[in-house]
Amino acid sequence: MKIVCIGRNYLAHVKELDNDLPTEPMFFMKPDTALLPEGEAFVYPDFSNEIHYETELVLRVCKTGRHIAENEASDYYDAITVGTDFTARDLQSQCKAKGHPWEKAKAFDGSAVVGKFHEINNLSNLNDIAFGMKLNGEWKQQGHSSDMIFSFDKIVSYISRFVTLCEGDCIFTGTPQGVGPVKSGDVLELFLEKETVCQFEVK
Ligand code: MG
Repeated sequence: MKIVCIGRNYLAHVKELDNDLPTEPMFFMKPDTALLPEGEAFVYPDFSNEIHYETELVLRVCKTGRHIAENEASDYYDAITVGTDFTARDLQSQCKAKGHPWEKAKAFDGSAVVGKFHEINNLSNLNDIAFGMKLNGEWKQQGHSSDMIFSFDKIVSYISRFVTLCEGDCIFTGTPQGVGPVKSGDVLELFLEKETVCQFEVK
Protein backbone atom coordinates (compact mmCIF):
# COMPACT_ATOMS: atom_id res chain seq x y z
CA MET A 1 0.00 0.00 0.00
CA LYS A 2 0.96 3.62 -0.32
CA ILE A 3 0.08 6.77 1.53
CA VAL A 4 -0.94 9.85 -0.41
CA CYS A 5 -1.08 13.15 1.46
CA ILE A 6 -2.78 16.38 0.51
CA GLY A 7 -1.08 19.61 1.52
CA ARG A 8 -2.64 23.03 2.07
CA ASN A 9 -6.28 21.98 2.22
CA TYR A 10 -7.44 24.28 5.04
CA LEU A 11 -7.29 28.04 4.61
CA ALA A 12 -6.22 28.87 8.17
CA HIS A 13 -3.32 26.38 7.95
CA VAL A 14 -2.20 27.76 4.57
CA LYS A 15 -2.01 31.16 6.24
CA GLU A 16 -0.21 29.99 9.39
CA LEU A 17 2.65 28.59 7.28
CA ASP A 18 2.58 31.63 4.98
CA ASN A 19 1.93 29.53 1.87
CA ASP A 20 0.03 30.54 -1.27
CA LEU A 21 -3.59 29.45 -1.60
CA PRO A 22 -3.71 26.41 -3.90
CA THR A 23 -5.78 26.50 -7.08
CA GLU A 24 -5.71 22.70 -7.38
CA PRO A 25 -4.93 19.94 -4.85
CA MET A 26 -1.26 19.49 -3.95
CA PHE A 27 -0.13 16.02 -2.98
CA PHE A 28 2.94 14.06 -1.97
CA MET A 29 3.47 10.46 -0.89
CA LYS A 30 4.87 8.42 1.95
CA PRO A 31 5.98 4.79 1.55
CA ASP A 32 4.36 1.97 3.52
CA THR A 33 7.40 1.95 5.82
CA ALA A 34 6.23 5.35 7.12
CA LEU A 35 3.25 3.69 8.84
CA LEU A 36 3.68 3.62 12.61
CA PRO A 37 2.84 0.05 13.70
CA GLU A 38 -0.29 -0.05 15.85
CA GLY A 39 0.47 0.20 19.55
CA GLU A 40 4.03 1.45 19.10
CA ALA A 41 5.49 4.75 20.26
CA PHE A 42 6.68 7.33 17.75
CA VAL A 43 10.47 7.49 18.05
CA TYR A 44 11.78 11.04 17.71
CA PRO A 45 14.28 10.88 14.81
CA ASP A 46 17.85 12.05 15.28
CA PHE A 47 17.94 14.11 12.05
CA SER A 48 15.46 16.76 13.18
CA ASN A 49 14.99 19.19 16.04
CA GLU A 50 11.54 20.30 14.95
CA ILE A 51 9.06 17.47 14.47
CA HIS A 52 5.54 18.84 14.04
CA TYR A 53 2.21 17.01 14.31
CA GLU A 54 -0.41 17.56 11.62
CA THR A 55 -3.80 16.06 12.52
CA GLU A 56 -5.77 14.94 9.49
CA LEU A 57 -8.81 12.99 8.34
CA VAL A 58 -7.61 9.84 6.55
CA LEU A 59 -9.56 7.93 3.89
CA ARG A 60 -9.12 4.23 3.12
CA VAL A 61 -9.25 3.31 -0.55
CA CYS A 62 -11.43 0.22 -1.17
CA LYS A 63 -11.10 -0.28 -4.91
CA THR A 64 -8.38 0.14 -7.48
CA GLY A 65 -8.94 2.96 -9.93
CA ARG A 66 -7.41 5.56 -12.20
CA HIS A 67 -8.92 8.54 -13.96
CA ILE A 68 -11.78 8.38 -11.48
CA ALA A 69 -14.57 10.87 -12.20
CA GLU A 70 -15.39 13.17 -9.32
CA ASN A 71 -19.03 12.08 -9.29
CA GLU A 72 -17.95 8.43 -8.95
CA ALA A 73 -15.13 9.01 -6.47
CA SER A 74 -17.17 8.09 -3.39
CA ASP A 75 -17.27 4.47 -4.66
CA TYR A 76 -13.49 4.28 -4.14
CA TYR A 77 -13.25 4.89 -0.39
CA ASP A 78 -15.20 3.14 2.32
CA ALA A 79 -13.70 4.14 5.67
CA ILE A 80 -12.34 7.16 7.48
CA THR A 81 -10.23 7.85 10.52
CA VAL A 82 -7.87 10.45 11.96
CA GLY A 83 -4.11 10.30 11.59
CA THR A 84 -0.93 12.23 12.23
CA ASP A 85 1.22 13.42 9.33
CA PHE A 86 4.50 13.95 11.19
CA THR A 87 6.71 16.51 9.51
CA ALA A 88 10.35 17.45 10.13
CA ARG A 89 9.59 21.16 9.76
CA ASP A 90 13.24 22.19 9.91
CA LEU A 91 14.17 19.85 7.05
CA GLN A 92 11.05 20.79 5.11
CA SER A 93 11.97 24.48 5.31
CA GLN A 94 15.46 23.68 4.00
CA CYS A 95 14.01 21.59 1.15
CA LYS A 96 11.54 24.33 0.23
CA ALA A 97 14.28 26.97 0.22
CA LYS A 98 16.41 24.85 -2.10
CA GLY A 99 13.51 23.74 -4.27
CA HIS A 100 14.26 20.13 -3.33
CA PRO A 101 11.75 17.29 -2.87
CA TRP A 102 10.25 16.92 0.61
CA GLU A 103 10.61 13.21 1.18
CA LYS A 104 13.17 13.31 3.95
CA ALA A 105 10.97 15.74 5.87
CA LYS A 106 7.76 13.78 5.32
CA ALA A 107 8.34 10.13 4.42
CA PHE A 108 10.54 8.92 7.26
CA ASP A 109 9.79 5.81 9.33
CA GLY A 110 6.86 6.26 11.70
CA SER A 111 5.79 9.56 10.12
CA ALA A 112 2.29 8.31 9.28
CA VAL A 113 0.08 7.43 12.22
CA VAL A 114 -3.35 6.05 11.33
CA GLY A 115 -6.17 5.52 13.83
CA LYS A 116 -8.89 2.89 13.88
CA PHE A 117 -11.04 3.18 10.75
CA HIS A 118 -14.79 3.75 10.81
CA GLU A 119 -16.98 2.55 7.98
CA ILE A 120 -18.29 5.53 6.07
CA ASN A 121 -21.76 3.94 5.85
CA ASN A 122 -22.11 4.61 9.56
CA LEU A 123 -21.55 8.35 9.19
CA SER A 124 -24.48 10.49 8.21
CA ASN A 125 -22.68 13.35 6.45
CA LEU A 126 -19.07 13.39 5.26
CA ASN A 127 -19.17 17.17 5.02
CA ASP A 128 -19.91 17.39 8.71
CA ILE A 129 -17.12 15.54 10.50
CA ALA A 130 -15.38 17.02 13.50
CA PHE A 131 -11.94 15.75 14.43
CA GLY A 132 -9.03 16.76 16.58
CA MET A 133 -6.01 15.98 18.69
CA LYS A 134 -5.20 16.36 22.37
CA LEU A 135 -1.55 16.67 23.36
CA ASN A 136 -1.00 15.57 26.95
CA GLY A 137 -4.72 15.97 27.55
CA GLU A 138 -5.02 19.47 26.08
CA TRP A 139 -6.73 20.32 22.76
CA LYS A 140 -4.14 21.39 20.17
CA GLN A 141 -6.02 20.95 16.92
CA GLN A 142 -9.73 20.87 16.17
CA GLY A 143 -10.90 20.67 12.58
CA HIS A 144 -14.02 20.13 10.57
CA SER A 145 -14.40 18.50 7.16
CA SER A 146 -16.61 21.38 6.01
CA ASP A 147 -13.53 23.65 6.11
CA MET A 148 -11.60 21.70 3.48
CA ILE A 149 -10.71 23.65 0.35
CA PHE A 150 -10.94 20.49 -1.80
CA SER A 151 -13.56 17.82 -1.04
CA PHE A 152 -12.82 14.12 -0.54
CA ASP A 153 -14.26 13.37 -4.00
CA LYS A 154 -12.20 16.10 -5.65
CA ILE A 155 -9.03 14.81 -3.96
CA VAL A 156 -9.60 11.17 -4.99
CA SER A 157 -10.43 12.16 -8.56
CA TYR A 158 -7.44 14.48 -8.83
CA ILE A 159 -4.84 12.05 -7.44
CA SER A 160 -6.10 9.26 -9.72
CA ARG A 161 -5.36 11.33 -12.82
CA PHE A 162 -1.66 10.90 -12.03
CA VAL A 163 -1.33 7.87 -9.74
CA THR A 164 -3.43 4.69 -9.73
CA LEU A 165 -5.16 4.33 -6.38
CA CYS A 166 -5.18 0.77 -5.04
CA GLU A 167 -7.31 -1.01 -2.48
CA GLY A 168 -5.75 -0.43 0.94
CA ASP A 169 -4.07 2.88 0.12
CA CYS A 170 -4.51 5.68 2.66
CA ILE A 171 -5.16 9.30 1.78
CA PHE A 172 -4.32 12.00 4.33
CA THR A 173 -6.58 14.92 3.47
CA GLY A 174 -4.72 17.88 4.99
CA THR A 175 -4.37 19.53 8.35
CA PRO A 176 -6.34 22.38 9.87
CA GLN A 177 -4.56 25.15 11.72
CA GLY A 178 -2.69 24.65 14.98
CA VAL A 179 0.26 22.50 13.91
CA GLY A 180 3.09 22.46 16.41
CA PRO A 181 6.05 20.60 17.87
CA VAL A 182 6.22 17.38 19.87
CA LYS A 183 8.88 16.28 22.32
CA SER A 184 9.89 13.07 24.00
CA GLY A 185 7.33 11.99 26.61
CA ASP A 186 4.33 13.61 24.89
CA VAL A 187 1.11 11.62 24.51
CA LEU A 188 -1.12 12.28 21.48
CA GLU A 189 -4.80 11.30 21.40
CA LEU A 190 -6.67 11.51 18.09
CA PHE A 191 -10.42 12.01 17.93
CA LEU A 192 -13.01 11.28 15.24
CA GLU A 193 -16.06 13.15 16.49
CA LYS A 194 -16.01 12.31 20.22
CA GLU A 195 -14.33 8.93 19.92
CA THR A 196 -10.64 8.26 20.51
CA VAL A 197 -9.35 6.45 17.41
CA CYS A 198 -5.68 6.38 18.41
CA GLN A 199 -3.43 7.17 21.36
CA PHE A 200 0.34 6.96 21.29
CA GLU A 201 3.47 8.28 22.93
CA VAL A 202 6.55 10.10 21.62
CA LYS A 203 9.79 8.41 22.70
MG1 MG B 1 -0.17 17.22 6.24
